[in-house]
Amino acid sequence: MTALLRVEGLRVAYGHIEAVQGIDFEVESGEIRTLVGANGAGKSTTLLALSGLVPAKAGSIRFEGEELTRLPTHRIVERGLVQVAEGRAILTTLTVRENLELGAYRRRDRGAIAGDLERVLNLFPRLHDRIDAMAGNLSGGEQQMLAIGRALLARPRLLLLDEPSMGLAPLVVQDIFATLRRINRDGLTVFLVEQNVRQALKIARYGYVIESGKVVLSGAGTTLMNDPRVIDAYLGG
Ligand code: ATP
Repeated sequence: MTALLRVEGLRVAYGHIEAVQGIDFEVESGEIRTLVGANGAGKSTTLLALSGLVPAKAGSIRFEGEELTRLPTHRIVERGLVQVAEGRAILTTLTVRENLELGAYRRRDRGAIAGDLERVLNLFPRLHDRIDAMAGNLSGGEQQMLAIGRALLARPRLLLLDEPSMGLAPLVVQDIFATLRRINRDGLTVFLVEQNVRQALKIARYGYVIESGKVVLSGAGTTLMNDPRVIDAYLGG
């Protein structure tokens, strides 16, 4: 299989703190792949670098063979790398519909946008029911659905998610992850960054474990889930 995304030797620093210390990973077309690790391990920083939101100090990020490290964020989004940010970043004083429409603001294909909106509302019936509600009045789970729906309206070729499980009850997390699986089955490639190691490895074909800015383990999702080092450190023995 060919890699859709290939990252080599990526380093990112905030002043003297090197948050990402030379990591390699890739994402193949059609799969769900995950980067898991504890709070502060460097997961968010890695995602921010993919989207050009923090500069890479060294290394390369290639999407379909094209180098992204020197492109501005909007060019990266245009190529199809769309991110669902940590903490959801929805606009609380706008309605659900307005938030979703924002996802499509760079597009001109009105008819296709309407079709995509319908698909997103089918995927998330809760959003359909609350289409004219203020986004700020949604539950945490609904806000996460909205953030994912908004990203889908940008027509991603690779969907990047930063801790979609954050702050959500276990049942809601399961619901969100089941939807990610469904989106993936419909053909979208997903790269997921998570602290919820169990859930992430369950849905990912392949995963990486990051500790203090370095990838320390990698393997098939099921293999990592059964690895004693992963069980001890992340799955509660
Ligand atoms: P989290 O689950 O908290 O998002 P993470 O694995 O995503 O954790 P990062 O947010 O990438 O980790 O942080 C990696 C390291 O970089 C941490 O030591 C953090 O304190 C540091 N860091 C993150 N953002 C900044 C910043 N803007 N300025 C300085 N240091 C930062």
